[in-house]
Amino acid sequence: MSITRQKAIESAIQYRAGDEPVLAQEQVQSYFGVNVFGDDQMRARLPKEVYQALRKTIEEGVPLDNCVADVVAAAMSRWAIERGATHYAHIFYPLTGLTAEKHDSFFSPDGKGRLVVDFSGKQLIQGEPDASSFPNGGIRATFEARGYTAWDVTSPAYLMEGRNGTTLCIPTAFCSWTGEALDKKVPLLRSMQALNRQARRVLKLFGHEEPGLVTASAGPEQEYFLIDRSFYFARPDLLSAGRTLFGTRPPKGQELEDQYFGAIPARVLAFMTEVDSELYKLGVPVKTRHNEVAPAQYEIAPVFESANLATDHQYLVMQVLQAVAPKYGLACLLHEKPFAGINGSGKHLNWSLGGQRVGNLLNPGETPHENMQFLVFCAAVIRAVNSHAAMLRGAVAHAGNDHRLGANEAPPAILSVFLGEQLADVFAQIAEGGARRSKKAGTITVGVDTLPPLPKDATDRNRTSPFAFTGNRFEFRAVGSSQSIAGAQVVLNTIVAESLSDVADELEKVPKEPAKFNAAVQKLLQKIIREHGRVIFNGDNYSQEWRDEAARRGLPNAATTPEALDAMDSPETYEVFEKCGVLSRREAASRFEIYREKYVKDVLIEARLCLSMARTMIFPACVRYQHLLAQTSSDLTAVGKLGCTTTLDEVNALLGNLQKAMLHLEEVIQLPQGLTVPQQCRYLLDTVIPMMNILRKEADALEHICADDLWPLPTYQEMLFIR
Ligand code: ADP
Ligand code: MG
Repeated sequence: MSITRQKAIESAIQYRAGDEPVLAQEQVQSYFGVNVFGDDQMRARLPKEVYQALRKTIEEGVPLDNCVADVVAAAMSRWAIERGATHYAHIFYPLTGLTAEKHDSFFSPDGKGRLVVDFSGKQLIQGEPDASSFPNGGIRATFEARGYTAWDVTSPAYLMEGRNGTTLCIPTAFCSWTGEALDKKVPLLRSMQALNRQARRVLKLFGHEEPGLVTASAGPEQEYFLIDRSFYFARPDLLSAGRTLFGTRPPKGQELEDQYFGAIPARVLAFMTEVDSELYKLGVPVKTRHNEVAPAQYEIAPVFESANLATDHQYLVMQVLQAVAPKYGLACLLHEKPFAGINGSGKHLNWSLGGQRVGNLLNPGETPHENMQFLVFCAAVIRAVNSHAAMLRGAVAHAGNDHRLGANEAPPAILSVFLGEQLADVFAQIAEGGARRSKKAGTITVGVDTLPPLPKDATDRNRTSPFAFTGNRFEFRAVGSSQSIAGAQVVLNTIVAESLSDVADELEKVPKEPAKFNAAVQKLLQKIIREHGRVIFNGDNYSQEWRDEAARRGLPNAATTPEALDAMDSPETYEVFEKCGVLSRREAASRFEIYREKYVKDVLIEARLCLSMARTMIFPACVRYQHLLAQTSSDLTAVGKLGCTTTLDEVNALLGNLQKAMLHLEEVIQLPQGLTVPQQCRYLLDTVIPMMNILRKEADALEHICADDLWPLPTYQEMLFIR
């Protein structure tokens, strides 16, 4: 057998239960947040005025005074150094979708042969990493490499413990010297501001004189795969592309449905326990862990938090998952589609908006008055999704996610809203206008006291919907498992802010008298539902009928990243980003350029890998098998038996096809000269990816027939079932 594959199997089998590191069993409350410079630490370590000033900044967005920063810096560094930290790092979130960090020591020489702590407010507030090699989409010419990181007061600093030392990590925003956003945090914060502004305008109309800060919240569910690490290293495709480029479906896949919520294997549970405890120390409120649908697939989900914090925490979840896995001999795969033929991984983004004074605005209340307010917010979301479906689709577009959206396991690329039967019925009646019998009892006239209580919990669940109302929030299910949740939220916050701003414009003109106001709300809801109701769909999103129906309704269906980015790169997108103060034209344009370039790089890496694996691993193995068959056949003929050549013929034919496919792929992999980046994307989509698929088909057919002991790559069966 291929030595690498054999060794991988041996090493995977050798892993014994009980090999896991043993964690000290401490009470969770005793270590939750111990590595965070959070409210407790600030209150205990800062002078009262400084503490209060800081809270004002965190809670109300009041600008921070420089001397406050100096005091905070001193307290923060003292805390970190007491805890063994030697370095601090500004953590930022560039457009690569990963986190970036640059470490500096807390200590500097004092000129007399000793070290002193050197960490002031200035170093806390601002950093200047050499940022020339982060994608900037033309915003920052490389000769002007300056990029600044700025302390994000609203996301607490934390300690990252390494085996040999500890680092104080300070979440920051990353921008150019002109103040243009180079990262995912700046637009997220801006979009939250826009949402706050517009939501408060609407709330005032509903009688909230002092609604307080309104924020978006996010609860992201992370799906991932775990396989034995030795398989990971035996597969160049997993190592360099994060997904398998070859491999046939195992005889047993997920059809028995014995994996979802099944008993968690001991090694995996030990891994999850350590992940949870690491995240608890970092103050990430992880809550749920379970098996997912596909073999070797799992999920972790925290309790929802304010959008910005939830986003930083989500990065930490991905980081910790990947850092802890090797300790258990595992590799954690965050790619959207590591294995063809079984489910891929997503990141369901649960999203709502609300505030301390006004509660969750997507919670249908108990009284008609609350109902009316809820219906307005809900309608604003529906309007936003229908008007800007292309933006939402674009926000989750990247090469990895193309394998998922559109396959019958994840929501399709067509965006529709699921409301549940009862709520959909309420909106249907509003659209028809006037009072009608509701599904339960009573008469519906929005704003009139006879409006029945709306469903608190969605009575039904629809797993196939990309954007589902689930009782007190929307769940956006199209986000890819490897993606930052920032992008999706930036779009969601922005388009809902725009929608609310229209609602406010409309209703601010109406006289305040209840009867007139209620009538105006009724009219407005009716208008929204009539104009945007086409986006509501409660049926099976996986069905062909829905695809046809969606086309009839004129809903966009951008199945791939190049199409999705082209659709999003439109005047309407620039306008709404600009209008809401989230991204300037230049910032938005730079992002499209970066995302397209990323697509080109991702696909080209895969194409090259495909070719080299076919050429240097699969082809040689099959030639050996061919030789074996030919030898046998000639041996049989030599002793006067009829050599059976059926298998040999088949192998010959497939090998011929494989060779042809390799040659073709090699030809098309050279990008034609002079293509623009959008054209390059289309070229890869139309010409290179189909060739990769053909090559894979031939190789997979050979895997079916080739002698198992000659096959060079760990198989799906081995990777998914040896645990
Ligand atoms: P399921 O898999 O059934 O959809 P999970 O419990 O795995 O549900 O995840 C639900 C997520 O939604 C959790 O992160 C939860 O905290 C979050 N969530 C609950 N309420 C809200 C809300 N109002 N806003 C945002 N997220 C919420
Ligand atoms: Mg969910």
